[in-house]
Amino acid sequence: MPSTNEIRSHFLNYFSKNDHQIVPSSSLVPQNDPTLLFTNAGMVQFKNVFTGQEQRPYSRATTAQKVVRAGGKHNDLDNVGYTARHHTFFEMLGNFSFGDYFKEKAIYLAWNLITGEFKLPREKLLVTVYSDDNEAANLWKKIAGFSDDRIIRINSSDNFWRMGDTGPCGPCSEIFYDHGEDVFGGPPGSKNEDGDRFVEIWNLVFMQYFEYPPGTRNPLPRPSIDTGMGLERFAAIMQGKRDNFDIDTFQVLIRASAEVTNTDPFGPHKVSHRVVADHLRSSAFLIADGVLPSKDGRGYVLRRIMRRAMRHLHMIGTQQPVFYKLLPALIEEMGSAYPELIHYETLISETLYNEEQRFKSMLDRGLSLLNEESGKLPSHGKLSGDIAFKLYDTYGFPLDLTADALREKGLTVDHEGFDKAMAEQRNRARAAWVGSGDNATETIWFELKDKFGSSEFLGYKNNRADAEIQ
Ligand code: ATP
Ligand code: MG
Ligand code: MG
Ligand code: MG
Repeated sequence: MPSTNEIRSHFLNYFSKNDHQIVPSSSLVPQNDPTLLFTNAGMVQFKNVFTGQEQRPYSRATTAQKVVRAGGKHNDLDNVGYTARHHTFFEMLGNFSFGDYFKEKAIYLAWNLITGEFKLPREKLLVTVYSDDNEAANLWKKIAGFSDDRIIRINSSDNFWRMGDTGPCGPCSEIFYDHGEDVFGGPPGSKNEDGDRFVEIWNLVFMQYFEYPPGTRNPLPRPSIDTGMGLERFAAIMQGKRDNFDIDTFQVLIRASAEVTNTDPFGPHKVSHRVVADHLRSSAFLIADGVLPSKDGRGYVLRRIMRRAMRHLHMIGTQQPVFYKLLPALIEEMGSAYPELIHYETLISETLYNEEQRFKSMLDRGLSLLNEESGKLPSHGKLSGDIAFKLYDTYGFPLDLTADALREKGLTVDHEGFDKAMAEQRNRARAAWVGSGDNATETIWFELKDKFGSSEFLGYKNNRADAEIQ
């Protein structure tokens, strides 16, 4: 049974043997796109290559890209712990052709890798194509020998990719694995699609048009390829699991979480251990890329992720900070592929420790307020925006942390009321404003930046960027 680390290497080596340049993962903080919160796909570092603004000394590349989807257009935060296939941080394996090969070779390379090299049985696989993409459908027939019922035509934006309102765009083809009947979930495109039976493992994007002005599409003279495969989903299949959290990497982290809290990894705290394992990865990798917890922008998304994990750890029953104690397990598992974890170990560890130390005292008091207030609600009730705002403002509870805590009790929160309370407080604050805002955080950031160097940081410009940009 191949380990996740072996699968990553095998993927990169396969494409290297097929004349692709192995390019290192770029930072989680996009260097070339201020509108994007975090790197959310393998193609992000190549955007300007696809548009022709930037030249590289190669026309084929392959990467294992660090990705975070916890805000903006792709926000999988609320899925984590509850679905078997979503993480906030994951690795996207990809191969790219910059005006070099196109559809036929892309389909051949993908099919040959998963069935020829990794030996997945053909009858477990099916694909989607964009509704009018006969070319792709015919190629799947020819290359994989699929009959029509294994090639599902989808007429939604899911299967048509665009970089933005203008720029390169084109149809996609997604490869799905069928985990077998006894799980909820229908085939791609069906009403019950969102289950764990048919899992999307690989997305092939065929960039064949250029849209400009909006609405006008012309064929690209040299069409390109962008693909993304979820490493953890693929590893689950290769390791005979139907749940990503059962793969080697996650099991190590889940066991570590169970160990430091002295609990059973599969007992009543199972969901919490999964959330903790997932959030540990996104927190550590974001800090290693120069993001630090703060009041807004990227730093606030990080803080939300960290505090969510900390609430789960607290619920399990730990009194002292423990999140940072899981870091060695992560480094053991992923440090050789991502040496930045080793390089910034002290920074990551101290940041995790300090945040938990700070949050602990408020967490206790906030949770008792939350329990008291939620106890007054009827079943399926809604917590008022004012209480949610008090939890935010006085006890440092990000709104989604409150929502996460309520969800366990079948309750929800009044988002609009929260926004209103927030706006009112802003107006009051603006009226009373006398000096600079978050000086302490800024000073810490600049000190660390001098010490460790940094990636471009735009957090302070973007109030509530987590919700608005991307
Ligand atoms: P899904 O429909 O399952 O949410 P997607 O279509 O949003 O996936 P893509 O944008 O096509 O995903 O990303 C390429 C690949 O990355 C997917 O085929 C999948 O294998 C993987 N992937 C996407 N989102 C996640 C996630 N949150 N956690 C783990 N893997 C993911
Ligand atoms: Mg998605
Ligand atoms: Mg999809
Ligand atoms: Mg997809």
